[in-house]
Amino acid sequence: MDRLTHLYRQIILDHYKNPRHKGVPNDDAYRVVHLKNPTCGDDITLAVKHDGHVVEDVRHEGSGCSICCSSASVLADLMRGQEISQAHRLIQQYNAMLHGEAFDEAALKEAAAYQGVKQFPARYKCATIAWQAFEAALKEEGE
Ligand code: ZN
Repeated sequence: MDRLTHLYRQIILDHYKNPRHKGVPNDDAYRVVHLKNPTCGDDITLAVKHDGHVVEDVRHEGSGCSICCSSASVLADLMRGQEISQAHRLIQQYNAMLHGEAFDEAALKEAAAYQGVKQFPARYKCATIAWQAFEAALKEEGE
């Protein structure tokens, strides 16, 4: 295993064992989306709070494999405080990365750790389910 692969594994394991921003608040200000990945047993709930301009908070909870659960934590870390337009751009960059296309590695920060998933198409859903839930929550209409 080369050094970079080792680093990426460390990031994924760290977020799996010590998830950040875990726990969905019982608060109407959050838009909540629940998604399941039956092929792996991943079950994730994403809660997003934004003011129409900036992503103020991202929370998550659920159960599943290390790739799924850790990516929800990495996503929450990355997206909190981002402008919504930038959040959409980051989603595009993440999907491009998983498809083996050119992407902005610096902008994705720790989320770049999932680039190895492109070699394992069966795990693609695991790496994207939290991102799909986040995108769906962003699009949900608030009051
Ligand atoms: Zn999974």
